Amino acid sequence: MSSVPVAVVTGGNKGIGFAIVRALCKQFPGDVYLTARDAGRGQEAVAKLQQEGLRALFHQLDIDDPKSIRALRDFLKEKYGGLNVLVNNAGIAFKVHDTAPFAVQAEVTLKTNFFGTRNVCTELLPLMKPYGRVVNVSSMVSSSALGGCSQELQQKFRSDTITEEELVQLMNKFVEDTKKGVHDKEGWPNTAYGVSKIGVTVLSRIQARLLNEKRKGDHILLNACCPGWVRTDMAGPKATKSPDEGAETPVYLALLPSDADAPHGQFVSDKTVRPW
Ligand code: NAP
Repeated sequence: MSSVPVAVVTGGNKGIGFAIVRALCKQFPGDVYLTARDAGRGQEAVAKLQQEGLRALFHQLDIDDPKSIRALRDFLKEKYGGLNVLVNNAGIAFKVHDTAPFAVQAEVTLKTNFFGTRNVCTELLPLMKPYGRVVNVSSMVSSSALGGCSQELQQKFRSDTITEEELVQLMNKFVEDTKKGVHDKEGWPNTAYGVSKIGVTVLSRIQARLLNEKRKGDHILLNACCPGWVRTDMAGPKATKSPDEGAETPVYLALLPSDADAPHGQFVSDKTVRPW
């Protein structure tokens, strides 16, 4: 078994994830895994970094596929006995002009951004080694979408005692409400992406709380963040940040020094803790 520290980035073949891998290759003292759902696109990205003189390793990971997640888990367990850094970056967004019905957009978006990210966490968080760092890439849109929720929902999403099961129930309810055409009446905002990222931010708060309760002595720090508005296939060419600039906050959180005890359980953008 290797004692080399190991970092994993999801959705690493392009955009912000690729830039996070690039930065970690330069700064993380260990093996950096670029993961991608498509092995061809992933290997191509690894080769591109190699041309820059950087060494990333590849492992397949489709966060929508529980089998794929378990295969990565088993690989990490066997080869490294755990994991030091996990960046949950993979995500999707329908384009503004997409004509797919809202209920379809809700189901598909929540499936990857919330449920896929949660499934990765369920399998990989138990592998986190002491002083491990976990970064869940959310979005400022989670904050604005929270503001668009009913008072009752806002209270639930801001609660310091909400459980993971309760959060999962709420995310499922959103999808069901869109199918019944009652999401508006039920207090949800009109953004599937926004609700999925509310899920990611609240999940991060819950997971940090659980780490405090169950693994306090292990000094693991886990946060949600927004990379900013970044020029990628998702956000388009008009966005203000380059992918490398977008990677800065996630990488800062992934490389928090071993004597840091904060931030933890926070929502961070531009390396600054934001109110939730
Ligand atoms: P992007 O260029 O579209 O890249 C998304 C990445 O996620 C791709 O590598 C994609 O792989 C991967 N992915 C999607 N579904 C996946 C799955 N089921 N399993 C594994 N990988 C999957 O988007 P981006 O702008 O870099 O976004 C990265 C993250 O930042 C996302 O979570 C996004 O919500 C968040 N974010 C972005 C912005 C922004 O302005 N760009 C702002 C706030 C937050 P494929 O190539 O195979 O599709």
